[in-house]
Amino acid sequence: MIAKQNARTLLCALLLIGELSLADSLRSQGMRGTIRKQSFGKTAGGEQIDLYSLTNKKGMEVSITNFGATVVALRVPDRAGKAADVVLGFDTLEGYENGKAYFGATVGRYGNRIAGGQFSLDGKTYTLPKNDGNNTLHGGIVGFNKKVWKAREIASKDGESLELSYLSADGEEGFPGNLSAKVVFTLPAERNELKIDYTATTDKDTVLNLTNHSYFNLAGEGSGDILDHVLTLHAKQFTPVDKTLIPTGELRDVAGTPLDFTSATAIGKRINENYEQLVFGKGYDHNWVLARSGSGNGLTIAAEAYDPKSGRKLEVLTTEPGVQFYTGNFLDGTVKGIGNKAYVQRGAFCLETQHFPDSPNHPNFPSTVLKPNAVFHSETVFRFSAK
Ligand code: BGC
Repeated sequence: MIAKQNARTLLCALLLIGELSLADSLRSQGMRGTIRKQSFGKTAGGEQIDLYSLTNKKGMEVSITNFGATVVALRVPDRAGKAADVVLGFDTLEGYENGKAYFGATVGRYGNRIAGGQFSLDGKTYTLPKNDGNNTLHGGIVGFNKKVWKAREIASKDGESLELSYLSADGEEGFPGNLSAKVVFTLPAERNELKIDYTATTDKDTVLNLTNHSYFNLAGEGSGDILDHVLTLHAKQFTPVDKTLIPTGELRDVAGTPLDFTSATAIGKRINENYEQLVFGKGYDHNWVLARSGSGNGLTIAAEAYDPKSGRKLEVLTTEPGVQFYTGNFLDGTVKGIGNKAYVQRGAFCLETQHFPDSPNHPNFPSTVLKPNAVFHSETVFRFSAK
């Protein structure tokens, strides 16, 4: 008891003389989580990349690299308290450098598709590189997922945070304006959730759609398909697409379609139905229009996914107006992930909180335009529990 008091007094003294940060002090008292930095290797171009592992007091650990501001691993307990990594990933930096599926990445400058690689803003037409048939996908050929971000460890009041920032130059991948983007990942000490805060500013009018592209398998990455996972989407409408996955502009009611997840339904129950939208997507690969129950632009529940085997549950909350639910239809077992495991088709699902795809070409969709002097801010929370 006396020893403990002495230790506290010493800590206070060190704090007073500025030798310790408040975070260090709380850490040493076991009152918050930890953050550990290690090398993740060098890029082909010779840049040093790091891997940051954040832990909390409830058995959760998240690893993030500053290459692509990417979530590499997310370990959460099952109903028996046993932790497993619930996101697809690679063991090495090389996997991420060469990867084409955006595992865990921060996607930008514009997440999802822009039709024909073109949009107009303030009367000027901008042409982007096409990397998905005739369209631009996830920011172009070298999107934010392939960029080296600047990292800073910060102690937030809730727990451990990692701030990653990137300056996207005017004209990069065809987009106008120098865009300064910041993503803060927070793992609260007392709650099993990963909070992602996005902010951005620009010096010219531009368009912006930032999201995280984690592929979840709540039974553990590489453990087969996710067709038995049970999903709820808090959305009464979706944005139907053409066969190149570009929205037609319609907002369609989900009622009476296999895209109705307003009540908890197994992902695999209707995925192979002969419904044109599912044929186009080779499964689910659509944007749902989130129902916001009177909360304006605040954080609202978007989705809930539950794995009956492990008992793990994921809730997704966001300030964004939409969510892309994608069932890993383009995975085919050729990509080998962690421990050389083959990632099979539908071996994971993504819940990409976002503005709607191709918004710059659809004036009826919520605007993705960011203007100088405005600060873009958006927030998404991946919350875990088990029962
Ligand atoms: C898209 C898919 C695409 C995938 C790439 C998703 O956001 O909607 O069509 O294949 O990202 O990994």
